[in-house]
Amino acid sequence: MNKDPVSRELFDEVMVPNYAPGNIIPVRGEGSRVWDQDGREFVDLQGGIAVTSLGHAHPGLLGALYEQSEKIWHLSNVMTNEPALRLAKTLCDLTFAERVFFANSGAEANEAAFKLARRYAWDNTGAEKNEIISFTNSFHGRTLFTVAVGGQPKYLEGFEPAPGGIHHAEFNNLESVKALISKEKTCAVVVEPIQGEGGVLPADKDFLQGLRELCDEHDALLVFDEVQTGAGRTGHLYAYEMYGVTPDILTSAKGLGGGFPIAAMLTTEKVAASLSVGTHGSTYGGNALACAVAQKVVDTVSQPEVLKGVKAHSDMLRKGMMDIGERYGVFREVRGAGLLLGCVLTEEWKGRAKDFVAAGLDEGVMVLVAGGDVVRLAPSLIIPETDIEEALARFERAVATLTGL
Ligand SMILES: *Cc1c(COP(=O)(O)O)cnc(C)c1O
Repeated sequence: MNKDPVSRELFDEVMVPNYAPGNIIPVRGEGSRVWDQDGREFVDLQGGIAVTSLGHAHPGLLGALYEQSEKIWHLSNVMTNEPALRLAKTLCDLTFAERVFFANSGAEANEAAFKLARRYAWDNTGAEKNEIISFTNSFHGRTLFTVAVGGQPKYLEGFEPAPGGIHHAEFNNLESVKALISKEKTCAVVVEPIQGEGGVLPADKDFLQGLRELCDEHDALLVFDEVQTGAGRTGHLYAYEMYGVTPDILTSAKGLGGGFPIAAMLTTEKVAASLSVGTHGSTYGGNALACAVAQKVVDTVSQPEVLKGVKAHSDMLRKGMMDIGERYGVFREVRGAGLLLGCVLTEEWKGRAKDFVAAGLDEGVMVLVAGGDVVRLAPSLIIPETDIEEALARFERAVATLTGL
């Protein structure tokens, strides 16, 4: 086995340069604390970008992983497996869904959702009803179809020709959707209840309700991309509950596996019928190990005490960040829901979100950006209050250094 020492420099020698990772390499984590190669300790408010929903080395997840690892890992889709069926049943019991498709990443779950939306319209209306409406600034993944649906043109640059039939309306602007939607051509409207990568920007309740009505009027499917907002992140198992608006298709990934790759597309029996035998698939989708781990995640994050805890932690973190923001004049607003928070930089600090990440690392706290103007927090849903206090104290020191105040 190769036990050669590795350092951050090796990244530049052996990896495709599509990322620019920080200059430390974390090697171990426990709860909301992480240690790097030199033994330096950090409070983790990144949560693997809204993925490690129960923190690091959660005993329940370790148990689920270990237990399943001794039984069977993988069977492919020519066989089904117990963990996949059990997880699908749980997701159906806890949500609007009646049918589930498993994949391995958010992009793949969305790919399945978009393909299903087209296929459903093709089945029920005809081939010309193939247009998808999504929103500027949205993010749906990095496959060619999902970047095309996403509303950030920079991610498509140089990769064209892209799949066609996609239109972008303005987020939180119902009139802009009305101008694009039609019964003849629109098969689906796709939206993130809170735009995550786009700056932690929540949809208005009226907007999502309006989308539901427009979709119903025009026989289009409403697709919620809950890859980032799902699995308890907002203090609800899925954010659609918070809005009181039920989609026809919902995608979930990131926090669903707590750090083990898995994604799910949830839908109704009626819509699911259009993905008949042979129409779509995934080798790893429904992998037994992944489903066993996700089962433990869902069983845990759906507990009322855990969801209540998310709201309490959210209040604490939001207030702490707002206080720092006001004291140092760096944030004009802290927005989002539950433990998906975006601290919006003031005019003076616009474009400098990355500097806050670097300053945080220097003081032992890991935070994220969402674009250039927002510092994003997406910690473990069960982060202890003492870790929140410590994270805030460290972040305040970071901001003090950065501002020179
Ligand atoms: C992260 C994200 C995706 C993409 O998920 P991957 O697992 O990286 O493919 C899609 N949609 C939203 C809303 C996301 O936040």
